[in-house]
Amino acid sequence: MRILITEDQLKQGIARLAEEIRKRCAGQPLTVVGVLMGSVVLLADLIRLLDMPLRVELVQARTNPDGTRPGPLVLNLDLLSTDIQGRNVLLVDDIFDTGNTLWELIPQLDELGPAHVRTAVLLRKQGRAQVALQPDFVAFDIPDEFVVGYGLDYRDRYRNLPYLAALEPHEMAEEQR
Ligand code: 5GP
Ligand code: MG
Repeated sequence: MRILITEDQLKQGIARLAEEIRKRCAGQPLTVVGVLMGSVVLLADLIRLLDMPLRVELVQARTNPDGTRPGPLVLNLDLLSTDIQGRNVLLVDDIFDTGNTLWELIPQLDELGPAHVRTAVLLRKQGRAQVALQPDFVAFDIPDEFVVGYGLDYRDRYRNLPYLAALEPHEMAEEQR
């Protein structure tokens, strides 16, 4: 495992992310919608840096259990507990990889009639996008490696690391045995 972004760098990156969001969404009530599970750590840190009146909501997106290979995407919006109709929504996810998660989530949220949906991610992997969409706010661009920590898991492990690390291919292969 190799540290890619230290705890201090994460903190600075999220402060910059929050500042951009504050500028673009100043003074407007916001519904921040975190995408489970990967966004929970970012969500907790980010909302404490935002000062507009806001609600926090969750939706769930899952692919295959270890998240290392593509699989059918299962979305669950049933966790939304307040009406987002007419609200400014900020959808928060851990990482923008192929972009398919946000690509499929946004139209489903749009059906609920928000004033508008913006997207914020901690990470964007370079050269991986498969959709005609980019997140509105990105804290860090990273190379095409499998990363863990700060909410991101490999087979339900490592979400609690306070830094972001790249797993070496052999580390994943070993665990799969
Ligand atoms: P996308 O739909 O943009 O391809 O992928 C988004 C989801 O794939 C993320 O929310 C995350 O769950 C998973 N994912 C993509 N790349 C990585 C990675 O490097 N590490 C981990 N832990 N999850 C990833
Ligand atoms: Mg995810």
